[in-house]
Amino acid sequence: MKDIIIKNVFLATPDGILENYSVRTHEGKIADVCRGSAPTCADALEIDGEGLYLSAGFIDIHVHGGGGYDFMDGSDEAFIGAMRAHMKHGTTSMAPTTLTAEDEELEAVFEAARRVRRSDQADELPEILGLHLEGPYVDPDMAGAQDPKYIKKPSDGSWRRVAETAGDDLLIWTVAPELPGADDMCLALKDRGIVFSAGHSGAKYPDVKRAVDSGYTMVTHLYSSMSTIIRENGYRVPGLLEGAMLHDELCVEVIADGLHLPPELLRLIYKTKGRDRMVLVTDAMRGAGMPDGEYILGSLKRGQTVSVFDGIAHMPDGVSFAGSVATADRLIRVMTQKAGVSLSDAVAMMTLNPAREIGADDRKGIVVPGYDADMVLFDGDINIRRVIRGGRITV
Ligand SMILES: [Zn+2]
Repeated sequence: MKDIIIKNVFLATPDGILENYSVRTHEGKIADVCRGSAPTCADALEIDGEGLYLSAGFIDIHVHGGGGYDFMDGSDEAFIGAMRAHMKHGTTSMAPTTLTAEDEELEAVFEAARRVRRSDQADELPEILGLHLEGPYVDPDMAGAQDPKYIKKPSDGSWRRVAETAGDDLLIWTVAPELPGADDMCLALKDRGIVFSAGHSGAKYPDVKRAVDSGYTMVTHLYSSMSTIIRENGYRVPGLLEGAMLHDELCVEVIADGLHLPPELLRLIYKTKGRDRMVLVTDAMRGAGMPDGEYILGSLKRGQTVSVFDGIAHMPDGVSFAGSVATADRLIRVMTQKAGVSLSDAVAMMTLNPAREIGADDRKGIVVPGYDADMVLFDGDINIRRVIRGGRITV
């Protein structure tokens, strides 16, 4: 593998934007990061960054599909197609995300992930860091786009089998923490390094507190499909939303496509959670990176037809959203241009923060020597010019 030298860039780091930097890769890792020109070597591939921005590759830990494919299709073709679509927009690692479904359908997804990880094409695609299971242990009243037919309770113990079949690929599990048996499930699995994220949940504050004590560290798409303040005999009882805002132990996913949440709410989250407790996620369905039109939400076999227009997928009733069609570049654009967050902070929310939440920050999320050579070159309007993944130019 040839070394790559990218020079003359503004390096976008969590600590600020560094002017006139150069980066050299070697054998898939970052070898040098320096001001001015990196030392050249004979057969290195040199790229003039032309004063563009360079950051660590984007990490999307909640994404269902793109490019016309959904991971729930359960095929190699779907995985490769969706991953390629997101790579064009700067994503170099991801946690393909499942929906509430029958065990057999989930197992097909686990198998496809395993095959694609081992395939010859794996080096040319975003790295699969592991899978994010969204459901089936969710509150039926907060199902959102999850199919209520397949919803279960953790107390039935069925998660043991799901966890076993997913094996080491299981990375994040979105579970409604108030469900019976949810605490035991979290306590039993978190030692395996599985990240628990509270979501699709009608939790009241005491449930949230208990979830934090059991080891939940994340909250799935803040504001969407979750409880907020209710009144019981006149008394106000906070919900998951307020619990997420209050507890520093909880890092929150934010769908920053600019439509799920208006800029004011993005700013409110930034104000309450702060830069380090936010992770930008696309939560994209198969219409991401595709023209407007009709798409199937979920698997081709069992999904429902929704329509994509005005930058988002709409349910047939025209009242609710059916998922995002965002890509990582758009999330950074919205955060910087609409929510008034600095580029350096927005980049951290799409690189270092997700890496840290899943325990990959010892090799991903920042551009420093020894780390994986996953990088994105983009202009001031966050248009992606080049993507480097594992020391290879992939876009
Ligand atoms: Zn989702």
